Amino acid sequence: MHQLPPCPTQLYIDGEWRTPHSGRSFDVVDPATGEVIAQVADGDLNDGQAATHAAAAALPDWSATPPRTRAEVLRKVHALMIERLEPLAKIITLENGKPLADSRAEVRYAAEFFRWYSEEACRNLGSVSHAPAGGYRILVQHQPIGVVVLVTPWNFPAAMGTRKIAPALAAGCTVLVKPAGMTPLSMLALADLLAEAGVPKGVVNIVPTTKSGALVDMWLHDPRVRLVSFTGSTEVGQKLIKAAADQVLKTPMELGGNAPFLVLDGANVKDAVDGAMIAKMRNMGEACTAANRFYAGDAVCDAFTAEFVKRMQALRIGHGLDENNQVGSLVDEPTRKKVDELVQDAVSRGAKILCGGKKVPGPGHFYEPTVLGDVPLDARILKEEVFGPVAPIVRVKGGVEAMVKHANDTEYGLTAYLYSADLAQGLKLAERLEFGMVAVNRGLVSDPAAPFGGVKQSGLGREGAAEGMHEYMETKYISVAW
Ligand code: NAD
Repeated sequence: MHQLPPCPTQLYIDGEWRTPHSGRSFDVVDPATGEVIAQVADGDLNDGQAATHAAAAALPDWSATPPRTRAEVLRKVHALMIERLEPLAKIITLENGKPLADSRAEVRYAAEFFRWYSEEACRNLGSVSHAPAGGYRILVQHQPIGVVVLVTPWNFPAAMGTRKIAPALAAGCTVLVKPAGMTPLSMLALADLLAEAGVPKGVVNIVPTTKSGALVDMWLHDPRVRLVSFTGSTEVGQKLIKAAADQVLKTPMELGGNAPFLVLDGANVKDAVDGAMIAKMRNMGEACTAANRFYAGDAVCDAFTAEFVKRMQALRIGHGLDENNQVGSLVDEPTRKKVDELVQDAVSRGAKILCGGKKVPGPGHFYEPTVLGDVPLDARILKEEVFGPVAPIVRVKGGVEAMVKHANDTEYGLTAYLYSADLAQGLKLAERLEFGMVAVNRGLVSDPAAPFGGVKQSGLGREGAAEGMHEYMETKYISVAW
């Protein structure tokens, strides 16, 4: 059994580690071996209430703390995360299954939100303007919204939390965090660093639970809560938006994706395959931004497919803690089962397996890196998020217009990728793609300095950039007889 680095397992409420009211705990499992690596406190509604009291009590002081002071605390969190990069990365790999290189990249990315928002905290700009009719002034400023609820998924157990916590704290809010049940350890490990950096007690509260629905629902109906920020599936996001309506809460949502990856005729094949490897295989495809479906022009399709298959076949599969492995275990059996079902569905409709296409026998939930060719347009894999290491390729004979039509034919709108030898053509296409983010000749969009988010059923609002902090603020207009 692999040794978990030291990591708290209790509830983090009001700056203390607390045993849960119920006395119960739940198992956290290494998906690559099936072994229990920790038992984590199972928070209930009483614990949720205690956390809300703490967050509400901490709000007046934290929101009145000078932005520069808040900024210095956030900067220190960044430094501590980088200092503890190795143990934090190991915790991610052990609870999530991804390879160590991906976990290290996640810790750096997660930490960067604290650095970026330490800078943004001091840039809460407002405005003063003359009323058009004269006689008075329009003064606009932004104030922290209050106590916020943050619900995060298992696929980036550190970064999906810090992408919310850092801007919320920069804005002056206090937070209630509910991490995913399969991967609560990364958030708990962060709590100690927050305290060490000087985040006052009650500002951040973390309550893992097996009763997500009941706990979050209680929070959303507490009059002290003003916002719920959620990252996860569209189905759960829709439920939370409905529940949030009762108190008219603000609801930033980062939901599911179905990213198209377009390779236009004439594109540089090596560059496109480099990008495809990142867009598809980062996190074994368990990313909302993962390229879900590939559309290649008729002239470039054969060369792109051949090179992509070669690169996918060369990947080494195995436990994420072994530095030689590039493909770790998927997070659980239902996730792997769905991946296999979507592959079998495509094959039954005429798709060809060009590499992979099978579960890896033995412990864990490993799935072979897979490329499917000649995928017909009615295959489920082109419509549903595969969340695994499978790349379905569609040959497009109708040129650029057909590609745009295929790409936009989805209720999702998070990320799209396109490769073109002609940058002007790429930029024009990017404007026509109905997605919140478009990568042009790149395989990666995530950056704390950029506004991350989707359109259509992929979400509401943005995380990262200046927009990310404004999600946690209310605009206040003061009308002044000058
Ligand atoms: P999920 O929706 O099942 O769970 C997300 C979180 O919600 C977890 O903490 C879970 O415990 C909690 N939850 C589940 N049911 C709930 C309920 N009824 N009330 C309150 N909370 C509830 O999603 P997941 O399987 O953890 O993550 C995968 C999904 O997340 C994919 O669809 C992926 O695309 C999406 N995702 C989106 C982004 C983005 O930025 N857009 C980023 C990462 C993941």
